[in-house]
Amino acid sequence: MRRIFSGIQPSGNLTLGNYLGAIRNWALLQREKSYECIFCVVDQHAITVPQDPAELRRATREVAAGMIAGGVDPDDCILFNQSYVPEHAMLAWVFNCVARVGWLGRMTQFKEKAGKDRDNATVGLFVYPNLMAADILAYKGTHVPVGDDQKQHLELTRDIAQAFNSMFGVDFFPLPEPQIFGTATRVMSLRDGTKKMSKSDPSDMSRINMTDDADAIAQKIRKAKTDPEPLPSELAGLDERPEARNLVGIYAALADQTPEQVLAEFGGRGFGDFKKAMAEVSVSVLAPIGEEMRRLSNDPATIDAILHKGGERARELASPIVKEVYDIVGFLRP
Ligand code: ATP
Ligand code: MG
Repeated sequence: MRRIFSGIQPSGNLTLGNYLGAIRNWALLQREKSYECIFCVVDQHAITVPQDPAELRRATREVAAGMIAGGVDPDDCILFNQSYVPEHAMLAWVFNCVARVGWLGRMTQFKEKAGKDRDNATVGLFVYPNLMAADILAYKGTHVPVGDDQKQHLELTRDIAQAFNSMFGVDFFPLPEPQIFGTATRVMSLRDGTKKMSKSDPSDMSRINMTDDADAIAQKIRKAKTDPEPLPSELAGLDERPEARNLVGIYAALADQTPEQVLAEFGGRGFGDFKKAMAEVSVSVLAPIGEEMRRLSNDPATIDAILHKGGERARELASPIVKEVYDIVGFLRP
């Protein structure tokens, strides 16, 4: 059986990166009907950095709304929030005792998020990839559609699955495959073309939020960092121009074109023209999604009912799998 698991943290405003790198692809895969889909608002991951409790609850509902507005159909998948299903944390503990400190120490996300003051980072931030492995493997997930930034964590999930199987001499966990596709697998910050666009970035100008209105989108694109040269006509002309490459990639993804097609149209022209066209295409894609998100956000009872139903179904799947893991490990069930 092919089973998809993927998640988003309620750690801020959903961004265009989350949409292009994750949600949009989930909706496409779901419509293919060749996978069983499990999508999760990973609130336990969010608290690896400090969160305000009321804001965390609000953001949890908003991320669910963003997934639905972005095309995920909750009647045809399991949509829930992680903390509702204790099996994730139960399995993560076992993986804390399988994964090695050295493996986690190589994770670039930890290095980036912990920054210079590493001793002050939470232990949760360090073991984040073990919980992510548990999220996927509690369902024996086989496919994981994510943005390129999660590739390293996915490799670690595979290492953990393999290490567990060989530690206990079983063929229990599958090795999940990353699914990284589309023309915007890593959307970069509007302020720095070498940094990933993130919902947790302190600068709101660094990202386009899925709920931004037309004015905000136009202003952020107008102020996006660029260089003084006109756009090149060939792809190779974007080498060493990370900001230009990022904007072209975003435009291509939103307009359903290849970057080559975008450059065929805009090559030789300045950023003024291009940014105007980019704002237009961004608004045309995001405005209806943002509107639907706002509508859903005004109806928290509906979102809660969807998450409750999804959480119950998720537990039904995860509970027997994690019970079996506990038996394999040797935990007594008196
Ligand atoms: P945070 O800053 O809190 O880590 P985030 O924006 O990185 O937030 P996540 O919840 O960590 O979002 O990731 C959710 C999904 O969105 C993942 O599949 C991730 O790969 C994808 N994603 C996040 N940022 C980008 C991006 N800039 N480009 C493409 N995909 C992205
Ligand atoms: Mg992230």
